[in-house]
Amino acid sequence: MTKITAQPGIMDIALYQGGAAHVAGLDNVVKLSSNENPLGPSEQAVEAFRRAAFDLHRYPSSDHAALRNAIGEVLALDPARIICGAGSDEIIAFLCQAYAGPGTEVLHTEHGFGMYRISALAAGATPVEVRERERVTDVDALLAACTDKTRLVFMANPNNPTGTMIGMAEITRLAEGLPEQALLVLDGAYAEYVEGYDGGAALVDARDNVVMTRTFSKIHGLGGLRVGWGYGPTHVIDVLNRVRGPFNLSQAGINAAIAAIRDTAYVDHCRAENARWRGWMADALAEIGVPSDVSCTNFILARFSSAEEATACNDYLTSQGLLVRPVGSYKLPHCLRITVGDEASSRRVVHAVRQFKSGGADGIGV
Ligand SMILES: *Cc1c(COP(=O)(O)O)cnc(C)c1O
Repeated sequence: MTKITAQPGIMDIALYQGGAAHVAGLDNVVKLSSNENPLGPSEQAVEAFRRAAFDLHRYPSSDHAALRNAIGEVLALDPARIICGAGSDEIIAFLCQAYAGPGTEVLHTEHGFGMYRISALAAGATPVEVRERERVTDVDALLAACTDKTRLVFMANPNNPTGTMIGMAEITRLAEGLPEQALLVLDGAYAEYVEGYDGGAALVDARDNVVMTRTFSKIHGLGGLRVGWGYGPTHVIDVLNRVRGPFNLSQAGINAAIAAIRDTAYVDHCRAENARWRGWMADALAEIGVPSDVSCTNFILARFSSAEEATACNDYLTSQGLLVRPVGSYKLPHCLRITVGDEASSRRVVHAVRQFKSGGADGIGV
């Protein structure tokens, strides 16, 4: 037996399962399993990425000033209090590395994003799952779960995989009620899908215990480039910059993200298209007996009558080349998370679920 062992907590990490991307023997597969933008990124972002090909021998910017300034300008935020990461996943990891550790607790909501638990364990901290109320973040439960060991409280608003969100008054009440050593992290990966929502930026500005994380992976359609960012009080950004590697983003990623955030017309277009097909898909699924909570995101959490039915439907969709996301690992075994696609894939997935529910042409279903 080897005496070379990992730090406590590391072997408790279950490997992250990404959304399925392939089905053996099928082409024309539709991937609705990772909440990617079906329309892809802005053409201007693609062009900026192409131009970066001429400078691949150069190290990237280390302070990301051009990207931070672009974000600050477009969203009216202070660029000095923005930090960029290789996806917002990296910002989540920085927060855990810097503020949590052995003997401390990291709270996350019951059906919260999987990276909170993974990053907490990687830092040697104890993740604490806090129950939700019917798939909605419960502020009272979060406040009740706080102890003098609590260092971080993670919540996504809107949340993945539930698609639900809570209002700013509730979030403010949470921030005000936290113990003084605890930091609230508002994950705004889907904030752009909610018209007029700032992801909690104003609350960050008003307090010293709130951080917001954001990403270019969802509405901006740049998941493949790994660009995310955080916005927080000066004292937090100063801490996070000390644990950040100097060249954590590629220049191609930085340049594409700058073009993406400046193309506000494209973001508006994507938000509108998403809302249109999300509404259509939710209504069509409800009509065939598959309800969902009102989604504030680019996916729908479709509820089935049992875990068995959800699994059988997932198997049927897979056989039809339609990849969605089973969410048993999020304690929602009777649900499937379906990314809102473009018109063609939205129609295809609803058609397939309808076939499944009606027993299918060849007797599949219940
Ligand atoms: C997709 C997602 C992220 C984004 O991750 P990146 O590392 O930026 O690609 C963060 N939080 C939640 C809740 C998400 O669903």
